[in-house]
Amino acid sequence: MSDKKIIIAIDGYSSSGKSTMARRLAAKIGYRYIDSGAMYRAVTLFALDNGIIAPDGTIDRYALDKALPSIKIDFRPMPDGSQHTLLNGHDVETEIRQLRVSDNVSPVAAIKEVRKALTALQRELGQEKGIVMDGRDIGTTVFPEAELKIFVNASAETRARRRFLEMCEKGDNVNYEEVLANVVRRDHIDETREESPLHRADDAIDLDNSVMTLDEQNDWLERQYKSALDKLQ
Ligand code: C5P
Repeated sequence: MSDKKIIIAIDGYSSSGKSTMARRLAAKIGYRYIDSGAMYRAVTLFALDNGIIAPDGTIDRYALDKALPSIKIDFRPMPDGSQHTLLNGHDVETEIRQLRVSDNVSPVAAIKEVRKALTALQRELGQEKGIVMDGRDIGTTVFPEAELKIFVNASAETRARRRFLEMCEKGDNVNYEEVLANVVRRDHIDETREESPLHRADDAIDLDNSVMTLDEQNDWLERQYKSALDKLQ
């Protein structure tokens, strides 16, 4: 196997389990993991907390555009191997996962200027390779040259059920119908937006994980990684 570092792009629908797989693979092979969705969520949280998104969901695009240079996003590695998202130095990992952010993130992520700023940051993070990044447009727009691209899917109901259980475990007060509606709405906005819509890269490998266990997914992904490295020889 080659010891060359590669870029691994994992794209797919909301709550398809991309992040869990990506994080585990990165930890196992000693790569850096970047959750690009967390960046869009952090920008959305900033906009919500600064009156840039009105209570009815309307986004003040001018104000957001002006604020973008002052939004600093970083990741802090945690002792348990996970990482927390920092927004202007504050740990916002819990807040960005809440439904108020999930409900507003896709319209924010559809804005050209937001995508431009975050795509630039993502490319910077991938400069040295040795990275696993998950999102919606990583294999198509951010790193079209990535050596390994995965496209993950599962039915909307399966994904909503997983997300719902995850949120319940965290103690969030949500109902399943609400979570399902959010998943379906985000998929629709992500797929139909003008700027880098969610779609499978032509050279991506498909994974439908509806009936797979976490261990099966992790093993599958590791096999894909090994065969991508073998192809570099
Ligand atoms: O991955 P996650 O569900 O946390 O992403 C939140 C939202 O951020 C997505 O619904 C999508 O609208 C947006 N996103 C994006 N491009 C990415 C990652 C996320 O548009 N690369």
